[in-house]
Amino acid sequence: VGQPDLDRLLGTLEAALGPAGVLVDPGLLQRHACDWSGEDRCAPVAVLRPRTTAEVAAALARCNESGWPVVVQGGLTGLAGGATPRRGEIALSLERLGGVDALDLPTATLVAGAGTRLQDVQQAAAGAGLAFPLDLGSRGSCTVGGNVATNAGGNRVLRYGMMRNLVVGLEAVLADGTVLSSLLPMLKDNAGYDLKQLFIGTEGTLGVVTRAVLRLYPEPIERITALVALDSFDALTSLLMRLRHTAGSLSAFEAMWADYFECALSTLGYARPFHAQHPFYAVVEVEAAEPVADRERLESTLAAALDEGGVRDAVVAASLEDAARIWRIREGAGELIGRLAPAMAFDVSMPLALMPDYVRTVGAGAARLGVRAFGAFGHLGDGNLHLIVAPGSASDGAAVDALVYGALRGSVSAEHGIGRHKRPWLAHTRSAAEIATMRGLKRHLDPRGILNPQRVI
Ligand SMILES: Cc1cc2nc3c(=O)[nH]c(=O)nc-3n(C[C@H](O)[C@H](O)[C@H](O)COP(=O)(O)OP(=O)(O)OC[C@H]3O[C@@H](n4cnc5c(N)ncnc54)[C@H](O)[C@@H]3O)c2cc1C
Repeated sequence: VGQPDLDRLLGTLEAALGPAGVLVDPGLLQRHACDWSGEDRCAPVAVLRPRTTAEVAAALARCNESGWPVVVQGGLTGLAGGATPRRGEIALSLERLGGVDALDLPTATLVAGAGTRLQDVQQAAAGAGLAFPLDLGSRGSCTVGGNVATNAGGNRVLRYGMMRNLVVGLEAVLADGTVLSSLLPMLKDNAGYDLKQLFIGTEGTLGVVTRAVLRLYPEPIERITALVALDSFDALTSLLMRLRHTAGSLSAFEAMWADYFECALSTLGYARPFHAQHPFYAVVEVEAAEPVADRERLESTLAAALDEGGVRDAVVAASLEDAARIWRIREGAGELIGRLAPAMAFDVSMPLALMPDYVRTVGAGAARLGVRAFGAFGHLGDGNLHLIVAPGSASDGAAVDALVYGALRGSVSAEHGIGRHKRPWLAHTRSAAEIATMRGLKRHLDPRGILNPQRVI
């Protein structure tokens, strides 16, 4: 295939989507050249911008007929390179297929287009006195389609689960343009196979998500946030267990090792919340049904942990501004990665018992390689650890991968997905039989291999 084939295909796509639905201006294509990881920038040959599910179906049918590879793009905040085009690919952007269609109070659900930003879903729910609990630092840019495709996790998985737990119904389009639409708002539906699961967490390799029915929860009366300083990893896990049992509804427990904490404060210029430096920190969030009583319970739990040792210091936010200042330190990770570029961000998970040794091993290995490791932080309650490493050169990058994944007994991707970056390491977590089954599914649903090729498997 060459330029004449591409021109013919773009002609049929423009007939289906209208002139504003197909971008070919090189200046406009640059915005679609990579995801948040910033690696392997490559502009697509064109960007398709369908406004409806029917237009997505028409566009995919035409690309499939000509066997043209398509990369699916949401808000481009992904960190695994999945939405970054490979040479010659057409990008299918869901940016014009956004908006909250139907908010149903009795079932506590809403229907959102794939291009709706997460923050807009949260605001639509809040407007009705409800909450959509998925929450990521990228909330202002990431989209529902991307959240579904990556099975996004974030800060409140501990209480509400990952995106998979929040998707009640889904509409998706297969590579050949077939539309699978199951947008009923019922929590219970065991009629045959639950096909929506095929599109949750499969990173756009099996179909394009166009709309989703999302599950809402009551808005907590108040969120109480605390920052805790601790002297050991054991103290972190003890506090987690204690808070699960005693402090209202624990909705977040984010751990930070000292080197991440110090690097975030100094690089991002944040004020020091404690006088002394400590080995570990945790951001704790409790959703309060009875704000006064739940605050007292949290404070007395922290006071008891202080008396017993392990916890060295703690501050409970007295205002929304205080809470935002605490969260900024943990959520500064995205900005920190940008400031330290080129930096490698890892997203692994493992049983908690293995985590302290793992961090020590990677830290010692990084020192041997002579690369800068900026420490660890993560959603501790989920066994999820993030690491930031700044390699000096491309060959260091390969050595860092080998170090981080070689020492790991767990998952090479806790929440960001495999995309392109982690594809060589999938077999570290999945067996040959599992990968063969994934490939079989891919062949069945996308026989010409046009959707997000060379991602995941
Ligand atoms: C500051 C920051 C903080 C973050 N924090 C978290 C976090 O706490 N937890 C977490 O899980 N992630 C986090 N992320 C990663 C990222 O925001 C999530 O992976 C998010 O779900 C990606 O959504 P997106 O719309 O930007 O998708 P994109 O980056 O555009 O795409 C991601 C993948 O999904 C596919 N895709 C996108 N839209 C569709 C669709 N409609 N149908 C099918 N496939 C599609 C793409 O092809 C690609 O493979 C963070 C990122 C940043 C920059």
